[in-house]
Amino acid sequence: MQIDILTLFPDLFEGPFSQSILKRAKDKGVVTICLHNIRDYSKGKHRTVDDYPFGGGAGMVMMIEPVARCIESLKEKTNYDEVIYMSPDGELLTQKVANRLSVLKNIILLCGHYKGIDERIREHLITREISIGNYVLSGGELAAAVLTDAVVRLMPGVLNDETSALSDSFQDDLISPPVYTRPSDFRGWKVPDVLLSGNDKEIAKWKHERSVERTRQRRPDLLDDAGF
Ligand code: SAH
Repeated sequence: MQIDILTLFPDLFEGPFSQSILKRAKDKGVVTICLHNIRDYSKGKHRTVDDYPFGGGAGMVMMIEPVARCIESLKEKTNYDEVIYMSPDGELLTQKVANRLSVLKNIILLCGHYKGIDERIREHLITREISIGNYVLSGGELAAAVLTDAVVRLMPGVLNDETSALSDSFQDDLISPPVYTRPSDFRGWKVPDVLLSGNDKEIAKWKHERSVERTRQRRPDLLDDAGF
């Protein structure tokens, strides 16, 4: 998969993309992530990328031309499945959305800043808009990093244990069961006996029951979707 990220602040991605699972995915060649600085596509003498909003009001708006030129120059070389604008009023990022995106070949993620981007970009060049939650961030960069992480970890060969992503919360509309590791007794705080029993069937049953119980307690809204 190739993910092209359009941003005014490419350095913001340095941390998240150079560690852990995203780094491994890049090193293995499972994903190619290319950062494009929108400022490089500004024709202005001062490489201007924002301007005052028509009609007045607070804040600056990202100008149409640098963004359009950047998207169009990428499209000349690559066919994109989706051109996604990270936006607080977009479709909410869920595990289902991440699953669907993870099978695509090429996507663009456009990160806004300031008051957002000129609406005409959204009307003419964007195919999908995704929000990571009902709150407003200063820019789309952190949102794009969250989306990239959620999507890339689902791709075959990224996680060590192939089944690991499948057993995460939300994959089957259930919350994950609790997990434990050694020691089995810490200050008298014990690991449930069944997990030490070696009885795979009982363990699977326990895990499923805990998942359903946890979901009922914490996210009863998910149970309707799961058919419980
Ligand atoms: N004025 C806009 C918010 C702009 S925030 C509004 O009220 O809707 C600046 C940029 O941050 C946006 O262009 C978007 O790319 C990004 N952003 C902010 N919150 C986000 C969220 N919850 N999910 C995804 N992107 C977000």
